[in-house]
Amino acid sequence: MRRSPPGDRGPEGGRGLREAVGLRIAGRLRESIVDGPGLRYVIFTQGCPHRCEGCHNPHTWPPDGGEEAEPETMLAEMKADALLRGVTFSGGEPFLQADALAALARPARASGLDVWTYTGYTWEELRAAEDPAWNRLLAETDVLVDGRYHRDERSYRLRFRGSANQRLIDVPKSLAAGEIVLWET
Ligand code: SF4
Repeated sequence: MRRSPPGDRGPEGGRGLREAVGLRIAGRLRESIVDGPGLRYVIFTQGCPHRCEGCHNPHTWPPDGGEEAEPETMLAEMKADALLRGVTFSGGEPFLQADALAALARPARASGLDVWTYTGYTWEELRAAEDPAWNRLLAETDVLVDGRYHRDERSYRLRFRGSANQRLIDVPKSLAAGEIVLWET
């Protein structure tokens, strides 16, 4: 599987989109209205180590499942849709393929799209790991929805998240402040 776990983190500056390896995905939606604000391009990455009880997408768990997808093709699809507000990385666990996603997020943001990333890791876990690839994806993320899915805290009234323990984190503000700043509409 092409991914970037701790210990295989690539060069310090990360890869450009042309150098980025292909992504392994469970699927993608070219237009969604439920995975963040506005109309969004959603990539469901393949592979997840968290195994949350009650997970709605267990087919995304095996790292060798899904299919290979070409980042440049997906970027072209995003740029061709003038109605998109942003791109969402969901899962699976996007941070298993942090370098490839950071390389895709960079030109997407440069074209005016915002980036939301869903992860089963908590903000504290991601920061404590001091993983360069994880930090590169954080640096290209506008809003992080963090934490594993807790079935006993689920609610369909929660906006853009499945269980109450998960947080919508404003990443640029949090990195600047050195503490969690929640996203506000
Ligand atoms: S992090 Fe998401 S995809 Fe992974 S097991 Fe939990 S709910 Fe499922």
